[in-house]
Amino acid sequence: MRVTAADIGSGPVIESLQMCRTRARGCLLAGAIGDALGAPVEFDSHARIRSRFGPAGVTDLVPSPYGPAGLVTDDTQMTLFTVEALLDTDPADLGDRLHAAYRRWLVTQEQPGPPSDAEGLAAESWLYAVRAPGNACLSGLRAPHRGAIATPVNAGSKGCGTVMRSAPFGLSSQLPTPDAVAEAAIVGACLTHGHPTARLAAAALAVIVRYLVDGRGLAESVSAAIELVSEHPDHEETTAALRGAVTAADNGPASATQLHGLGEGWVAEEALAMSVYAALTHPEPHQLRAALLFAVNHDGDSDSTGAITGNLLGALHGEGSVPPDWAAQVEGRDTIIDLAGRLVEPEPRSSR
Ligand SMILES: [Mg+2]
Repeated sequence: MRVTAADIGSGPVIESLQMCRTRARGCLLAGAIGDALGAPVEFDSHARIRSRFGPAGVTDLVPSPYGPAGLVTDDTQMTLFTVEALLDTDPADLGDRLHAAYRRWLVTQEQPGPPSDAEGLAAESWLYAVRAPGNACLSGLRAPHRGAIATPVNAGSKGCGTVMRSAPFGLSSQLPTPDAVAEAAIVGACLTHGHPTARLAAAALAVIVRYLVDGRGLAESVSAAIELVSEHPDHEETTAALRGAVTAADNGPASATQLHGLGEGWVAEEALAMSVYAALTHPEPHQLRAALLFAVNHDGDSDSTGAITGNLLGALHGEGSVPPDWAAQVEGRDTIIDLAGRLVEPEPRSSR
């Protein structure tokens, strides 16, 4: 259920708010951990991963080219700026707020550190680390006009950069319905990527997260998201990928071969499908650790599939399922937890 300020005071509502908060924290925290697990092997083949780390591949947070174990990448950085846009109480429309927030992220990728007058996330020096940001994300935000369906930027691009930053739309108390969640994710995705699949895969993730936060099961949430996205033009690639993930999961236990069959995750619908498959095949709370490791040990875009899988399972199970040793190590933990809590508050404060 969505909680409004007028509802506050009744026991069930407080309980619901607490549940939303733990799911939001779980979603963003497990997403960041998946990102950090995948970062050291983002550009490695599965064979290379196994030759580096042994037959089981990556089994823990390990150092990456960026530094010590636990460092996140652009996936988590951009996700937090999505949150900041959703917390912004400026009366400008959401597209403008998202564009402004992602432009603040762009500055973090172009400048060595925060200017003296910076506020909010732009004042946090750890976010100025450059961790293989996506080209379309950078170029889309440098474009002279704001990308939209009718006025696209990067018209042919469907990189997974839209999906990996879109879980917060599903968490926001400012977006009252799954349709509103989808529309907001679409607006956000169009700021950097013009291909329909880029925006619809982002919308699908956001909507699945919303259904999970509302208490639905994972398979049911995926099915409902397929139904909702099917109402949008040019949905076929996205919904086919999601159906492929469901079918693969129905075929038996998690398998690297089945995962590989869904793609490598560099493009939006593949990253979404691989992550949905990793989540569906590890549905229990105690399997979150195994799910994240499964999601990063493959040929493709390991940090993004790790991040999206973490978003899904963290939203499903809540913060309590997140392995505490990894939560303690992941970069930005305090900021992530603070922003997640504020995102589900019925009366968000100004973020800047
Ligand atoms: Mg990344």
